[in-house]
Amino acid sequence: MFHNKLDLHNCLSKYGQSSKSIGLVPTMGALHHGHLSLVNFGLNDNDFVVVSIFVNPTQFNNVEDLKKYPRTLERDVKLLKTVAEEEIIVYAPTVEDIYADNVTSKTFTFGGLENEMEGAFRPGHFDGVGTIVKRLLEIVKPQKAYFGQKDFQQLQIVKKLVEIHKIPTEIVGCPIFRADDGLAMSSRNERLTSKHRAAAPFIFKTLKSAKLKFGTESALKVTEWVTKQFENNNLLELEYFLIADVETLKPVKRKSTKKTYRAFIAAYAGDIRLIDNIALN
Ligand code: AMP
Repeated sequence: MFHNKLDLHNCLSKYGQSSKSIGLVPTMGALHHGHLSLVNFGLNDNDFVVVSIFVNPTQFNNVEDLKKYPRTLERDVKLLKTVAEEEIIVYAPTVEDIYADNVTSKTFTFGGLENEMEGAFRPGHFDGVGTIVKRLLEIVKPQKAYFGQKDFQQLQIVKKLVEIHKIPTEIVGCPIFRADDGLAMSSRNERLTSKHRAAAPFIFKTLKSAKLKFGTESALKVTEWVTKQFENNNLLELEYFLIADVETLKPVKRKSTKKTYRAFIAAYAGDIRLIDNIALN
């Protein structure tokens, strides 16, 4: 494991000399099987995988969320060792290693993608994401980098980031990994009370029903239906439900068979904010 880019570079240059391919899996740690699925995609495609573990302060718009974000580095490293011993390199930088003495975001535009959904509800979030992902891609210089569809807007934004900044890394989107009861795995799930954990699969259940309804009904009707379901649920509070075009992430007004849509939810279970999404067509 490396805590600074100099040590990481020393290690990477050894691999680089023998022209081996590098995959990057950026994470904020508190690893779960969703993260491991990304690592496995990376290992299938590359000679080795750099897993970065860094709770990036600039992408948190909520100080409490940053403070309470689970940090379990030792356990994370052990978990990664169960996947592969030799082919995984852990890069867990300090804040100084990434930001020196200036812990601020750069400002980005991503063709408008940054203004929708998470961008609207979490001001500054995607500037923080853009800053850290660009930095990690510059440091690691991977051939491919792996991102989960769990954070679908982030995935689209990172694709835009490499396009705009001409970064020679292929961005690979990976499917959402779920618990047996359907809840999308997330590091934040660890902080749910047992009551809220039991209630949380409702989110995916509602997304699946919304998908069925979208086959025959308008986006507006489906949205009204979903809103009502959450109104009747006193453990989960809906922040937004949206059916959007995957390219622009703008809410669908009139359905077109030529476009691809996804439904997105953000909801609070107590003070834990959960997000999920589903492909509709
Ligand atoms: P995080 O540590 O939450 O920032 O996530 C790091 C990466 O893992 C991101 O690309 C996430 O989209 C991805 N990820 C997190 N949870 C899941 C999941 N349940 N299934 C697939 N990918 C995930």
